[in-house]
This record gives sequence, structure tokens and C-alpha cells, in this order.
Amino acid sequence: MEKAKVAVIGGGLAGSEAANRLAKEGFKVDLYEMRPKKMTPAHKTGKLAELVCSNSLGGKEITTGSGLLKAEMEKLGSLILEAAKQAEVPAGGALAVDRNIFSSYITQKLEENSNINLIREEVKKLPLGDYDVVIVATGPLTSEDLTEDIKEKLGADRYLYFYDAIAPIVDAETVDFSKGWWGSRYNKGGADYFNCPLTKEEYERFVEELLKAEKVIPKDFEGACYFEGCMPIEVMAERGKDTLRYGPMKPVGLIDPRTGKEPYAVVQLRKENKEGTLLSLVGFQTKLTYPEQKRVFRLIPCLEKAKFVRLGSIHRNTFLQSNRLLKPTLQSKKYPNLLFAGQITGVEGYVASAATGIVAGINAARLLRDEEPLEFPKETMIGALLNYITTKEGELQPMNPVFGLLPPLPKKVRNKKLKKQLMAERALKKMEEFKERFNL
Ligand SMILES: Cc1cc2nc3c(=O)[nH]c(=O)nc-3n(C[C@H](O)[C@H](O)[C@H](O)COP(=O)(O)OP(=O)(O)OC[C@H]3O[C@@H](n4cnc5c(N)ncnc54)[C@H](O)[C@@H]3O)c2cc1C
Repeated sequence: MEKAKVAVIGGGLAGSEAANRLAKEGFKVDLYEMRPKKMTPAHKTGKLAELVCSNSLGGKEITTGSGLLKAEMEKLGSLILEAAKQAEVPAGGALAVDRNIFSSYITQKLEENSNINLIREEVKKLPLGDYDVVIVATGPLTSEDLTEDIKEKLGADRYLYFYDAIAPIVDAETVDFSKGWWGSRYNKGGADYFNCPLTKEEYERFVEELLKAEKVIPKDFEGACYFEGCMPIEVMAERGKDTLRYGPMKPVGLIDPRTGKEPYAVVQLRKENKEGTLLSLVGFQTKLTYPEQKRVFRLIPCLEKAKFVRLGSIHRNTFLQSNRLLKPTLQSKKYPNLLFAGQITGVEGYVASAATGIVAGINAARLLRDEEPLEFPKETMIGALLNYITTKEGELQPMNPVFGLLPPLPKKVRNKKLKKQLMAERALKKMEEFKERFNL
């Protein structure tokens, strides 16, 4: 077999898509997968693209973030979606699959592909000198040696995280802004935060319900990651009834302009994107179950009717601060011929991981042909997601495909369903044009 010029490391959701794309474009690919010789703590088989937990690939409707992303992937050609069609099981509005049929299909397709050389080995060091282009798609449970090498080569000591610590995000349109005010602590900086004040009674009730709420039990390999900056709010609350008032709910330096006083406690909301359509609850990383998060966080004045576009979580998760290290093309800023794909880039979930695999495959092929890698349009869900993870200011926490990432429509549309429909149509039209323009 002719020597491959490109390597894909990791045969998960993203790596399978990337290798498949490169092979389809006529390139020989070395695809490295360490399983079954070396397993991760979550995978159970040696199959490629194994679904480690749920068997759902999310909503089908284009008015859901995941559904729109899938529709865009369909346009680009997706092995994961091809497999899902073969393996689909009934699940209402969601695309659920028989996990065994799903990963067996992908394994067989890639094994049979004469352009793909599947090498069942752990890669311990980035093989930068051995290939013209390398794609790293080793996922949230990247092996230790490789993680160390990535850290060293990218100078990513501070920019590679081992746990995510996700705080919930709400749709700004569902926040009751009449109950709080915009401003910063001690009026330093601009009016960057929306402050939701709580009275003593509201605070005590909130803490009481937080303590009673049901929590997710960490997986064995996840352990407790209660280091600074990653402490769940319910754990803080267990330390004493005022702990949160000295932590993320501290009111000092926040004078409510309506009363001229400091409230008893404050929850701060911060813009998650430039348009301000998404607001996160500052310091509210949590391991409460999803239904309990909605119940308890809606006790916060201003959030009684909030729609949560992302709920909080804390997992073992190896991911890059892509906003510092990667370009929207998924190339490393330091090594342009090194690309990353999948959950390691800071996207969240099976489908988003697979989508970035397609993008990395397309851009690796372009690099191999000496063409400029592509930035996907921001009006598409793929483009919006890549734009978010590579340009987010401050700390990056994993993000899934949500409509709030898309630029607003030129004219305000009040009806939410219609708004999503119009945004989805715009995204698919853009993707179609982009595909034709670059012959994707
Ligand atoms: C426990 C757990 C549960 C999850 N549950 C869900 C869920 O229910 N729904 C959802 O949408 N998302 C879930 N995720 C998040 C995420 O979407 C999946 O992990 C997804 O598989 C990520 O795709 P990926 O291609 O980036 O990584 P993976 O699919 O994990 O693929 C990475 C591959 O790289 C291999 N690898 C690692 N290091 C090396 C190395 N050094 N050399 C060679 N091969 C290597 C691994 O064996 C693996 O096959 C979960 C994650 C975890 C950890």
C-alpha cells in the first residue's frame, strides 16, 4: 500500500468521519485506534465510533440545534448519519440507534475501505514529522501519554482541561429583566452582568432546595474534582448556609439602583456570546440532575420562566481551550498542519463531535492539495459552533449546538418556532451555497 500522507488519531465519532472524508477525497489515511488493546474507562468494545452512553443522536427536526446540525452534515455527506439510518430504532422526535448495529456498520465500512489503513495502536506522541497532515480526534478520554505530548508541543499547560465544569445557560429572551439590573461589581468595567437579587427569604429557600435536590452520581473513573473553579454549587452549599453568599452569590459591590442597597444575595448572569442571546449563571457549575436544575434554578427571581439551553454538568473531559489554540478551520495556530476534531476541541456530544470530524477531514484534504482550509459560514450551525469554540472570550467550557449561537435574523421575529424555522432555512441555504462554491 502506498504510504499515507495523513494520519487520523482516534477512531471515535469524529475520527471515523474525518478518515471517511479523506478516503472519499482519494487520500490514503492511517487511522489509529488504541482499542481494544488499550481501553478507555468508558468504552466497552473495540468497535469504531462506539456510543459510550446514550443511544440517542438527538432531535431530528431542523428547529432543534442537533436536528439542524444533522441536516447540514447530511449535505456534506456523513458516515455517522449513514450508519444511523441502518441502525435506527423508534424514539419519537429523536434519532436513536441500536448501538451495536451502528458501530459495527461504521467499523465494517472503514475496515473495507481500501484507502484506510486501520492501525490498532495507541499513539503516544504527535507524529508530526511522519505525516504531511495529522488530525487528532482522541476524544474526552484521550490517553495520558498523548495528552502530555499535546500539552508540551502546543505549550498548552494552562489551556488543556481535564474536567469540564459547565454552568447552565439560559435563553436571554426568557429572563425577566424587570427584576434585576445590568452592572458590574463596584461599577468596574461596563454593564457586563445582569444581576438577579435575592432577599434573605428567597436565598434561604434556594439553599434549602439546593441541598434537598437529587444529584448525579459520578462515574467510577470520574472521582471528585473539587478543585478551585470547579466546585459544584451544591457542594459549596453543604459547607454552610452562608457559603454561597461568600462565593458565587456574593452581593458585595453590587448596589441595586432601584433600592440603593446591596441585596442579601445575587446571582449574576453573563453574556455567553457577542449578541447576548445566551446568558450563563456565573459560578453555577453543578451535578444536580437536569430536572432538578430546572426546578431549583427557577426559584431565582428573574429566572422563574427561564428556558435552559444548556444545563450544568461536571465530567472528566480532556479538552483544549480552542479559543487560544485553534483557528475556526480546526488547525492548530502553532502547527497549521495539525488539526483537532471531536470533543477534544470543546464541542459537546456525539453529533457535534462527528460534525467537526467532517470539517477536519475537508480541511485536511485541502491542505494536502495545497488549498486554503475553509471557515464555515457563521449562519450555519457548524460554522457558529466552530466560531464559538475558537473565539469565545475568557474560559471555554464545552458547547453543544444551540440556536442561540446563530446570528440574529435581520428582522426581529416574535414567534419562537417561526424564528427557528427561518434561522434553520437560512443555515441550510448558506450551507448549500458554500458546498457548491467549494465543491464539497
Ligand atoms: C462517559 C461519557 C458519556 C458520554 N455520554 C454521552 C451521551 O450520552 N451523549 C452524547 O451526545 N455525548 C456523550 N458523551 C460525550 C461525547 O460526545 C462522546 O464522548 C463522543 O464519543 C465524543 O466523540 P469523539 O470522537 O471526540 O471521541 P470518542 O468517540 O471518545 O473517540 C475517541 C477515540 O480515540 C481513541 N483514543 C484515545 N486516545 C488514543 C491514543 N492515544 N491513540 C489512539 N487512539 C486513542 C479512543 O479509544 C476512542 O475510540 C459522553 C462522554 C463520556 C466520557
